[in-house]
Amino acid sequence: MSICVENVSCVYSKGSPFEKVALENISLTIEKGEFIGIIGHTGSGKSTLIQHLNGLIHPTSGKVTIDGVDLAAKTKEAVAKRHSVGMVFQYPEHQLFEETVAKDIAFGPKNLGCSEEETEKRVKSAMKFAGLDYDTFGGRSPFRLSGGQQRRVAIAGVIAMHPDFLILDEPSAGLDPIGRREIFSRIQSWYQKGVFSVILVSHNMDDIARLATRLLVMHKGHLVMDGKPMDIFLHHRRELQECGVDAPPLTQTLLYLKEKGIPVPEDAKTVEE
Ligand code: ADP
Repeated sequence: MSICVENVSCVYSKGSPFEKVALENISLTIEKGEFIGIIGHTGSGKSTLIQHLNGLIHPTSGKVTIDGVDLAAKTKEAVAKRHSVGMVFQYPEHQLFEETVAKDIAFGPKNLGCSEEETEKRVKSAMKFAGLDYDTFGGRSPFRLSGGQQRRVAIAGVIAMHPDFLILDEPSAGLDPIGRREIFSRIQSWYQKGVFSVILVSHNMDDIARLATRLLVMHKGHLVMDGKPMDIFLHHRRELQECGVDAPPLTQTLLYLKEKGIPVPEDAKTVEE
């Protein structure tokens, strides 16, 4: 299973005085099993790109396909493929709207046509994933929860859809360090079990270095780097800086390599800090 982005460009408000080219001729393939990090300065096109991956935005030119199915098509098949990509927005709690937590999480699976029984099963397991006790939180109003708990409900809502690809846009924004670590350790453990692939947009280089198997760097609407995070953090530090992104400190990068058991390249010490 793979998402294929072919020569995609995106122009907002085309033909108006506010015309803005947000993506220019992007091509890439995302395979099931990858954990992809996307970094880039604010306005570089990250959000626009990820919204193309689940068909929320259709390209101005080019196409996005999943297993050969064009996401812009008006067919049942295309809808099913779009549903296979779950998206957790930067402040997902803004999307909560049902009376109770359980109903909110059930909304997605019900919409997919799941039976009552299957929906309940999914709600319970998604809540477990997100670290929310069903008996304690299921009947509560999502609007009366703390920010961190609301975030978990929103993540559970996406998980309950059983996506093959999970896109997370700064999922830890506004969360305390403990909440952040918890959410990421759950995501990582499900990823490692092969439940879904992950596409993570983040400004947090620490998260990216620890988790991503592949890194995409966006700059002014272009995909300027696509490679192994450690390779980019080690060998393309100046280029990253030119894109307005700071790589983790060199010492930190070397530490990650050691932790992951990746041999430190001979020339590492000569890499410019
Ligand atoms: P990032 O996620 O990297 O911050 P975005 O994809 O949000 O970048 O934005 C890319 C460019 O497109 C920016 O210049 C932004 O101002 C512009 N843009 C984003 N959304 C819209 C929109 N709905 N209408 C017009 N311009 C937009």
